[in-house]
Amino acid sequence: MLREFDGRTFRETFTRAGFDDYPEATQAVRDILAEVNQRGDEAVLEYTRKFDGVELETLLVSEEEFAAAEEAVDPEVRQSLVEAAENIRDFHRRQVQNSWLEHQADGVALGQRVTAVEKAGAYVPGGGAAYPSSVLMTVIPARVAGVEKVVLVTPPQAGGEINPYTLVAAKIAGADAVYKCGGAQAVAALAYGTETVPKVDKIVGPGNLYVTLAKREVSGMVGIDMLAGPSEVLVVADASARADFVAADLLSQAEHDVMAASYCVTTSARLALDLQKELKRQCAQLERCDVARESLQQQGALVIVDSLDEALEIVNELAPEHLELQLSEPWEALGKVKNAGAVFVGPYTPEPVGDYWAGPNHVLPTAGAGRFSSVLSVDDFVKKTSVIYYSPQALLKSAQKIEGLARVEGLTAHGQAVKIRREYLEEKGSGN
Ligand code: NAD
Repeated sequence: MLREFDGRTFRETFTRAGFDDYPEATQAVRDILAEVNQRGDEAVLEYTRKFDGVELETLLVSEEEFAAAEEAVDPEVRQSLVEAAENIRDFHRRQVQNSWLEHQADGVALGQRVTAVEKAGAYVPGGGAAYPSSVLMTVIPARVAGVEKVVLVTPPQAGGEINPYTLVAAKIAGADAVYKCGGAQAVAALAYGTETVPKVDKIVGPGNLYVTLAKREVSGMVGIDMLAGPSEVLVVADASARADFVAADLLSQAEHDVMAASYCVTTSARLALDLQKELKRQCAQLERCDVARESLQQQGALVIVDSLDEALEIVNELAPEHLELQLSEPWEALGKVKNAGAVFVGPYTPEPVGDYWAGPNHVLPTAGAGRFSSVLSVDDFVKKTSVIYYSPQALLKSAQKIEGLARVEGLTAHGQAVKIRREYLEEKGSGN
């Protein structure tokens, strides 16, 4: 089912589509952004009619709708969402960084204030599927960071309602409001603000191509978390791995959509053989078998390498969103992993443990971005501000060096701002 490569061929032929490969979608997104910027709610409602096929009166989800959602959900699943939320809260609380200020002996005080953004907007994909787990993963870190207002946007279903699990998750996570809109128009509403949707300082959360292109367009004017492409998993497996476990994990990625990418890099030719058989067998039993098969055939790869070191070199080049280490010594291998969004260690930690439950975030860098960017975290919702204090004595001590540095940059006004004080202090004789 998977195309087979040796390590060298895979590295030579491997490519991934970039966001510049979609000029038409980019233009469509720019038009949507401009319309929403100019016409606000009216434009958002029009695009919701066009793309989601729903005629809405208002974008805001009412308290009655939240109450109806509470009635509609399975209480056991609700309880699982509550427990997952607690795990996510616990984990993200450990990421909180405190402000600090350090008074030094020579009349200098330096510090860093850590303050939350005021308003944040979470995009939660919708339409066909519902992702209550993404609600928890985007809203909870914002709340833990201390963001004052956290709102959520998500496209409505065919009947104009939002999936009840999404709404219940929004309440559990502590979102202040949910708006029925999706795609580029929802990102535009959050970036520019409309009559109903507040303009936010940061937009986070995964979505399809239109959502991602819209985030790219508004980035700079508003903060964004990352540009997320199709989901990926890379399983590194040795002869100790079970082919049925590895196959199940690759298929769980492949069923997302045909663009999702599932790779297995293995040192075992035996495992490779068994894996192909297992993929065929297990895929036939899936509801979304057609999607999974196409994804595996078009995007997936089975790479047979000579050594674990070679496998880990491939890992570091690809920087996969999800990395599973199904190895006899997974902790040892972990030490050599430099680039990956999240690492799942050992055969009993399949990706869904992290997707839904364990606590670490599931919004992760894709398409190689793990080389330079990180998983969504509390850090995404804070800014760091430097604090600098110099006493007269401290300024006198360093003044001429600062003036010298300003001089070589040709910035005489910079030098003057220091000199004027130095001369004043020297004259006053208060510098000693
Ligand atoms: P979505 O909410 O991202 O997009 C739906 C919206 O796309 C619609 O409301 C519509 O406005 C817009 N749209 C659709 N066709 C359009 C067109 N031709 N022109 C302009 N706009 C158009 O939902 P989706 O499409 O189901 O995609 C969800 C994505 O999010 C998937 O790729 C899924 O894998 C991903 N996802 C990722 C994570 C994660 O954490 N990484 C979690 C959940 C989902």
